[in-house]
Amino acid sequence: MGVTNSQNRLMAHKLIDKLKTVAPDVQFDHGNYFCWSPKTQCVIYPSINDTDPSDSWSLLHETAHALLGHNDYKTDLELLVMESEAWDRAVQIGAELGIKIDPDHIQDCLDTYRDWLHKRSTCPTCGVVSLQINATNYRCHNCNTTWSVSSARFCRPYRLKRS
Ligand SMILES: [Zn+2]
Ligand SMILES: [Zn+2]
Repeated sequence: MGVTNSQNRLMAHKLIDKLKTVAPDVQFDHGNYFCWSPKTQCVIYPSINDTDPSDSWSLLHETAHALLGHNDYKTDLELLVMESEAWDRAVQIGAELGIKIDPDHIQDCLDTYRDWLHKRSTCPTCGVVSLQINATNYRCHNCNTTWSVSSARFCRPYRLKRS
């Protein structure tokens, strides 16, 4: 709110150049989707859609992961916390560059992670939400079932809920 589409269009066009000055140590590389890759220390971005302001927001968000040094996490919950921190930082960087990120967009993205976390942490046997015991395993404190999950990552599709 308060930011017109034309402003966002203008920003998206030159945003990567601006981010390179704000975050000179961060590498940017073209790829299939927005992503922070701790392995290559690169912010990956697809073709920027100038009509979609959320592309600028994604770019700010992934850059925030890079600036915050988000390289490793041990649990899904830790990843969720990092996602939240990255959005906070993205809002700050955006403010410096005159880009206002829609708070609803941030909540949507975090909700996507929360839903994902809820699914992973729900016991397949009794349905109780349980604690993670290591990067790829959960154990139910109610019925003692253990189950494994795929390893978590920063690259997640952000717009699953809205088509
Ligand atoms: Zn993220
Ligand atoms: Zn259970």
